[in-house]
Amino acid sequence: MDDDSQNRLNENWNAVLSDVHQAATDAGRDPNSVTVIGVTKYVDAEITAMLVDAGCDNLGENRPQVLWQKAEILSLDDSVQWHVIGNLQRNKTRRTLRHRPVIHSVDSEKLLTTIAQESSAAGITTDVLLEVNASGDESKTGMTPDELRVVLGTMPSDSVRVIGIMAMAGWDTDSSAAQSQFSETRELRDTLATEFGLELPHLSMGMSGDFAEAIAEGATMVRIGSRLFEGVTDIGHG
Ligand SMILES: *Cc1c(COP(=O)(O)O)cnc(C)c1O
Repeated sequence: MDDDSQNRLNENWNAVLSDVHQAATDAGRDPNSVTVIGVTKYVDAEITAMLVDAGCDNLGENRPQVLWQKAEILSLDDSVQWHVIGNLQRNKTRRTLRHRPVIHSVDSEKLLTTIAQESSAAGITTDVLLEVNASGDESKTGMTPDELRVVLGTMPSDSVRVIGIMAMAGWDTDSSAAQSQFSETRELRDTLATEFGLELPHLSMGMSGDFAEAIAEGATMVRIGSRLFEGVTDIGHG
């Protein structure tokens, strides 16, 4: 049973890598410019460890407590890069930073300030991305372009480094609508980089259903969950 799961994860991981490489090549991009983040929110620590064994060394979690638990159970901090991709409550920041994650889901000036203060106290620099609400859906998380400008205008300190923008396509978007949202996100990144004299090299966008479109529009980090666990676990993903 465990061998089956491991074999299936190896196959899924290799298939995803190969599709990501193909999408990059089709877009005339270097496949090494795209990092695949394995989103392990659907699976337990044991299967997370198997995914790492399959070769995935960037792990994304959307709940801080689950990240803590897995990081502690698996002692993976030295071998993987963690990514926080969901809502981070400010009172969970300090404990989360122990695992030295990249934080993709910065959605307020307050949260950025807290990350800066806690990073400074810990003597570290934290890489973060600002989350934009690319679809404009009320129900979706992330900031408006104007809110992003406010945050970029009040950059707290050098204990945080804003390395880019994170976006999700809206609900019920077909692939061409998703692609145009990703394209707008890239244009927004380019505009903000010029306006604020920042590099903003990273675009975190694209999930199991739309990573090819995201890569065509310049994604440097794709966050892939359900595709990796097909046939391994019933994740009831709708
Ligand atoms: C769950 C999740 C993903 C992965 O989605 P899949 O469709 O399962 O690949 C990516 N990004 C965020 C923010 C998520 O919450």
